[in-house]
Amino acid sequence: MQKITNYINGKAAEPTAGNYLDNPNPATGKTYSLCPDSDAADVQLAVEAALAAKTSWANTTAEQKFQVMSKIADLIDRDNERLALAETTDQGKPLWLSRNEVTRAAQNFRFYATATMQMASEAHITENQAVNYTIRQPIGVVGCISPWNLPLYLFTWKIAPALAAGNCVVAKPSEVTPMTAYLLGELCIEAGLPAGVLNIVHGLGPKVGQALVEHPQVKAISFTGGSATGKHLAATAAPMLKKLSLELGGKNPNIIFADCDLEKTLKTSINSSFLNQGEICLCGSRIYIERSLFETFKTRFLELVKRLKTGNPLEDDTRIGAIVSQQHFDKVMACIAIAKAEGGNILTGGNSVQLEGELADGWYIQPTVFEGLSVDCKTQQEEIFGPVVTLTPFDTEEEAIALANSNSYGLAASIWTENLSRAHRVSAAVDSGIIWVNCWLYRDLRTPFGGMKNSGVGREGGWEAIRFFTEAKNICIKL
Ligand code: NAD
Repeated sequence: MQKITNYINGKAAEPTAGNYLDNPNPATGKTYSLCPDSDAADVQLAVEAALAAKTSWANTTAEQKFQVMSKIADLIDRDNERLALAETTDQGKPLWLSRNEVTRAAQNFRFYATATMQMASEAHITENQAVNYTIRQPIGVVGCISPWNLPLYLFTWKIAPALAAGNCVVAKPSEVTPMTAYLLGELCIEAGLPAGVLNIVHGLGPKVGQALVEHPQVKAISFTGGSATGKHLAATAAPMLKKLSLELGGKNPNIIFADCDLEKTLKTSINSSFLNQGEICLCGSRIYIERSLFETFKTRFLELVKRLKTGNPLEDDTRIGAIVSQQHFDKVMACIAIAKAEGGNILTGGNSVQLEGELADGWYIQPTVFEGLSVDCKTQQEEIFGPVVTLTPFDTEEEAIALANSNSYGLAASIWTENLSRAHRVSAAVDSGIIWVNCWLYRDLRTPFGGMKNSGVGREGGWEAIRFFTEAKNICIKL
């Protein structure tokens, strides 16, 4: 059975205590590899390696940082198929989707490789009396903690800007999906990334993640994961006065006005509801439809949902793969039971899917659509993070905005309308860090990314991430 290793000080490293966790393939439900069950001792080794490398990396020229980060991007591209297969085996998502995500992981590295060449300082001239200039210096050693839903993509989305800003990194991928992070460590060795600049420690959140957050030499934490974990992490890091970036959960509205382009709206709403089994923080799980369009949308949407194939993630025509773990499968099924108990009317789905042969013990759930649920019920308020959406009609623009905002989360929203003025009005009024008008998941890496309310604190993406991963220092020279 394949044993994953940590990546510490430029080398593969077994966990010091020698313990491992079973790592199942969600498609089969069977353990196929072992993930290090590391602990505080491994985190300590990783932090020591990062501390030893930090001055040298901070002083590495922009050109050299660019070269090695571009090389990592090129190697990710070279190994796209191998990494995609590893991601699918680990996470359960369709292989075609893994290929896209691996491409995007390479783009993260390439994008921030170019950022190293574009850093600039600001200057403020005080009426012939003083010159202020502001430099941005690396923080030192920073921690990056990521979730299981887009494993390599989100891991690189944090690591790349942290490295570009001149920091050394101790990174912890999710213990649920450790494989591509492990393979990334191998590619970093091949690319010639200096030892200690990036260290990857695998293991459980309360052990490895907690030790990383508590470590006094780790000066900033960039975290993506659930809101409850984020709050717990903040309770540890805030009294230590660490810099914190929290990218948390979502329960996103998808607001559809009667004047939308229906074909485009339907096509994209299928994706925003069910891509990656609905396991994307940006998925639009609360679908609000203007009443005059409600029945038409519902009929057409259900026709399309019923055509989605739930099945073997390795097959090209599979649209919904396996749910990531037994634990998450149980959680999503429990949410479906709650929605029924709350009076929800199941329009389609609602059951697990039993496949055959090798896949018989895998975790599969039908795409599920409910209607008839009240705004304040658990199903409409809490993140499910699975292939489950609700349909709710509205009568006016004001009501649509109130419905969108009737939730403690504020990550992303989609708005579908051909009325330009309405698009602007509703975009401004919805409490959400990211708004997509007539699209979904349309990403430009330069734009700020993150949520408000329970969806997080701070923004990643573009210069926002570079700002997070640096300390601004203002130098004032009196003339
Ligand atoms: P999670 O909070 O359970 O785990 C996230 C990471 O935190 C994992 O690596 C885990 O091991 C670690 N962790 C757990 N306990 C910890 C602790 N005490 N200290 C430090 N680290 C700890 O989340 P998950 O189940 O892996 O991911 C799903 C969640 O992530 C969903 O809520 C989803 O919305 C959210 N998410 C948000 C975004 C975003 O950009 N806002 C993106 C993807 C996923």
